[in-house]
Amino acid sequence: MSMQQSPKHYSLEFFPPKGPKGEQRLAKARGTLAALGPEFFSVTFGAGGTTRSGTLDTVVATMRDTGIEAAPHLSCIEGTKESISEIVDTYRDVGVKRIVALRGDIPEGMDNPGVFSYANELVEFLRAQYGDHFHLEVGCYPETHPETPHPDADLDNFVRKVEAGADSAMTQYFYNPDAYFDFVERAQARGVDIPIVPGVMPFANWPQVARFSAMCGADIPRWIATRLAAYDAADDQDSVRDFGIEVVTGLCQRLLDAGAPGLHFYTLNRDEPTTTIWRNLGLPAATGHAVPTPAPGIA
Ligand code: FAD
Repeated sequence: MSMQQSPKHYSLEFFPPKGPKGEQRLAKARGTLAALGPEFFSVTFGAGGTTRSGTLDTVVATMRDTGIEAAPHLSCIEGTKESISEIVDTYRDVGVKRIVALRGDIPEGMDNPGVFSYANELVEFLRAQYGDHFHLEVGCYPETHPETPHPDADLDNFVRKVEAGADSAMTQYFYNPDAYFDFVERAQARGVDIPIVPGVMPFANWPQVARFSAMCGADIPRWIATRLAAYDAADDQDSVRDFGIEVVTGLCQRLLDAGAPGLHFYTLNRDEPTTTIWRNLGLPAATGHAVPTPAPGIA
């Protein structure tokens, strides 16, 4: 993998909260995470039955409360050109400058996602309609997207999104850094020169992450699974949390040392363990926000 030049891109992902408790939890986490000084926050759409207005509201509240850029995720699911233009016009009007453009997960029983079948068509549409107004991010899959098990075909599809006008990419999370290095090398060999930022899933609650991993095809290396199996998850939450921080800090450090152009953390709307991992890595603030003093922990 060739070394990528600074500056590196550090970002944090939220999902739109449900109900007053979820909103309170996110507001609290967002305050702590904003102090780390990420380049931007991103807000998912559609996952877990959340709505477009939930994404818009969370994007607006995030920009208002933190002064940091927020990027809505936008998927093709059930979209028409009109409905997509309507929401994107709204994003533009509230000051959004970056969009994460995705196909989205197709709900069971649905044959066609919408007017666009794949994310490259959405990227092409956004470029044609909005020129360079938005920085367009796309997703990619170092361990291969589960719907297209052939790695070359999946890479072809990623290259198509880049050629359609993506400015940068964020990966599905993984715990095996070699999968990322291999993917980046193969993409670069195909002429891809946009930043491919690793997606990182910190974990404190292992059963939840194991469930996500089974759904999205993220491999759990055997050494991690066996170490976790040795803890009684119900009784030994502290050990699971500490082990998770150690594993993910080590993973991030290896990625950065090898030249990864940044990190995108899936926070699950919690400030921890992302904050501890961020501090362990000594990541710089992209904004003028004060960065709290590092807490004692794994260096
Ligand atoms: P695409 O790039 O369109 O690829 C989808 C599948 O089709 C792949 O298997 C690909 O190889 C194949 N393919 C692509 N183009 C073609 C083509 N022209 N012909 C044939 N096959 C093709 N999901 C949500 O619902 N909401 C979110 O907010 C969300 N956020 C995400 C954020 C990140 C960073 C990532 C990596 C994923 C996110 N997802 C989200 C999940 C994502 O929507 C799913 O993984 C989805 O199944 C694929 O989306 P994509 O944009 O990568 O699709």
